[in-house]
Amino acid sequence: IWSDVLTYVRNNISEVEYHTWFAPVKTLGVREGSLVIGVRNSFAQEWFRKHYLGLLEDALRSLGAENPQVSFEVLPAVQEAMIMPEASSSPAVATPTPPPQPRPKPVPAPELSKVLNPKYTFENFVVGPNNNLAHAAALAVAESPGKAYNPLFIYGDVGLGKTHLMHAVGHYLAEKYPEKRIAYVSTETFTNELINSIRDDRTTQFRDRYRSVDLLLVDDIQFLARKERTQEEFFHTFNALYENHKQIILSSDRPPKDIQTLEGRLRSRFEWGLITDIQSPEFETRVAILKMNAEQANINIPQEVLELIARQVNTNIRELEGALMRVVAFSSLNNVPFSRTVASKALSNVFAPQEVQVEMPEVVRAAAQLFEVTTEQIKGTGRARDIVVPRQIAMYLIREMTEHSLPEIGQFFGRDHSTVMHAVNKVTEGIKRDEELAAQVSRLRRHLEGLHEAEA
Ligand code: ADP
Ligand code: MG
Repeated sequence: IWSDVLTYVRNNISEVEYHTWFAPVKTLGVREGSLVIGVRNSFAQEWFRKHYLGLLEDALRSLGAENPQVSFEVLPAVQEAMIMPEASSSPAVATPTPPPQPRPKPVPAPELSKVLNPKYTFENFVVGPNNNLAHAAALAVAESPGKAYNPLFIYGDVGLGKTHLMHAVGHYLAEKYPEKRIAYVSTETFTNELINSIRDDRTTQFRDRYRSVDLLLVDDIQFLARKERTQEEFFHTFNALYENHKQIILSSDRPPKDIQTLEGRLRSRFEWGLITDIQSPEFETRVAILKMNAEQANINIPQEVLELIARQVNTNIRELEGALMRVVAFSSLNNVPFSRTVASKALSNVFAPQEVQVEMPEVVRAAAQLFEVTTEQIKGTGRARDIVVPRQIAMYLIREMTEHSLPEIGQFFGRDHSTVMHAVNKVTEGIKRDEELAAQVSRLRRHLEGLHEAEA
């Protein structure tokens, strides 16, 4: 029935739309007379309710349902579970068949591909100044597990790629050494499994499982706070693995020293290896991430549209991807090509209009255009007057229109902060006396503001 529903849907919407929305969903079966569809996140859930409920009901009706009902459920981001090569079956010794007796439920050992998100690979990870240290550390660990840094501790705010990097190490190792045992688990799952194993009198199995892996990935370890029993258990797991030179990777939203009520002995162990952080991506990295996502989905989106999206969503990468999805869906639903206007419309009611944020490269590009020089010249070292003036104006406008500090601006131009300060002063003074200069600066400013008019 599900494939019939999909066929119906496919015949009634565009290919891009189908691909964007229906390729990633799956049916969770029929529950209480309602067809339950699993979607990837709450944004998709909302989108489906709004845009596809009717279509799906029609599809069911066309298949004979009289009073069709459809509901949408958010799938867990990653199905977690232990991943292990099949435990070797018991030795082939003839034994009398034992009478059937209740046995502890076997631990499911799902395919690695189901546990690690196939998208979360090193190839799909865009490296920028915000994450290059964490990326390099993860790669080093993937190449020589147990030897480079142990444990590797990655921290950073939500949605910045911690889980992605952990999975990437898992994929890398699984491919290079198929015999290695890899376990990915969230701290929450680890805790729940522990509690269940205590309840069911299966703590030995629990221990054996976690202490026999080659790579242990534990996500969101900050949730160990205030869980004494789990901390105790994890302490022993950690020691067992560490002593056997097995690799451990931990993620957290904060560094070990800031995890309250974490036992001292655990904290110090977390600090034995390498602690590295991931920061919010800067504009160029955000654009690169969007570009990669668009390319992978085989969708051709103009650079300026990607830039507009990257400007609106400037912290969380998950939201950045959600914004891209929304723009893609919007333009395909309305059957219009991608443009800045379409993009800002698509995003207008999701991302509250905010103070427009101009980015440094945009200012440089606009100045280059106006003065008919190249961006390379502006960012270069040439001292000719017809380059120095646009360069100083660009520095001045960046200082005026962005939150960047003098040293940050200096770094962007490959100069120190005093050069920037000099430029800012020079232009500030200059526009008081020089009308032509004042006009040029204000034209540039208006141009840059205009770039953002649509989305404000
Ligand atoms: P965290 O675990 O830090 O909350 P995730 O690893 O779940 O964040 O990342 C959120 C989303 O952003 C995922 O879809 C991930 O693929 C994507 N993402 C994060 N960092 C990058 C990056 N550097 N390049 C490409 N995609 C990224
Ligand atoms: Mg995560």
